Amino acid sequence: MSLEASFPRFLEMERDHRSLILAARAASKRTGTPNSSHFASFQTGMGELTAALISSLADPRTRVAVRRLRARGADGFILDLSDGSQLEAEGVVLATPARETASLLGEVAPKPSDAVASIRQVSTTAVTLAYRSDQIPVLSGSGFVVPAVEGRRVMGVSFLSQKWGGRVPSEQFALLRAFLRRGDRNQPAEIVKKELAELVGIRAQPILEKVHTWEGGLHQYSLGHRDRVAGAEDGLGEFPGLALAGAAFHGIGLNECIASGRRAADHIAAQIRLRPRTVVSR
Ligand SMILES: Cc1cc2nc3c(=O)[nH]c(=O)nc-3n(C[C@H](O)[C@H](O)[C@H](O)COP(=O)(O)OP(=O)(O)OC[C@H]3O[C@@H](n4cnc5c(N)ncnc54)[C@H](O)[C@@H]3O)c2cc1C
Repeated sequence: MSLEASFPRFLEMERDHRSLILAARAASKRTGTPNSSHFASFQTGMGELTAALISSLADPRTRVAVRRLRARGADGFILDLSDGSQLEAEGVVLATPARETASLLGEVAPKPSDAVASIRQVSTTAVTLAYRSDQIPVLSGSGFVVPAVEGRRVMGVSFLSQKWGGRVPSEQFALLRAFLRRGDRNQPAEIVKKELAELVGIRAQPILEKVHTWEGGLHQYSLGHRDRVAGAEDGLGEFPGLALAGAAFHGIGLNECIASGRRAADHIAAQIRLRPRTVVSR
């Protein structure tokens, strides 16, 4: 995988501090709060971000997919939507996952579409478990990651109730989320409970368990990713009303996704402003 493309911030931290651990220590010293400095979320979870985004839009359309994107003459696009309606737009930011973006681009921009289609996506499964605190060992820290050499199916565990406030009704409860290595679809909750018993000594039965799989939810940037993306973006130069954004391109972290969305929106806005208008005189 390309670290520079996937987690540019980590590379920066390593360059500035010689190692990620030293960079994390330096950040802790700066804020004086060992755990909170590296993590940030919203009070009621990440859904707050999308809810705020929707409420800031003048005419939001949710729960509707774009099925087809085609050119409208020389200066715009027509989008066919899954509810049978159409949208006409002067500019379009494609912020969908790579596979979807490649498919939508196929008709208008086949070359960039091919470049985007080569960006890899893998699925990931998370198992969330709630326990009564007095039935499990005391959890310290915010969780742990399990290196591949350990040969385990669990890739990492977040102690959500330690990491964030407001995730459990009181200290009598503990909430954990484990991520599985890809491909582990068979009885994921059972795998996690077995490995948690071995790794953390949790033998109690959870009072709640939820399994969630994000199909193709993680983009994996292989070596050469930056060149592939540059190729796709150069190819889109011919279509000033189109821009790419989101986790497929310039970093999978939320900060990078938001930054790429802003850049794409600015690009489209500038292109639309520059476009010569047809003046109709009566
Ligand atoms: C399990 C997991 C844990 C993560 N943890 C972290 C973390 O702790 N910190 C961090 O920074 N990042 C984390 N990430 C990464 C980060 O969440 C993602 O990279 C980021 O959310 C991607 O945002 P996005 O807007 O590019 O894509 P998405 O959030 O995937 O949004 C794409 C949107 O496109 C929509 N869509 C798809 N097809 C169509 C269509 N045809 N028409 C219209 N809409 C369509 C989808 O419905 C979706 O809403 C995590 C990712 C996963 C999967």
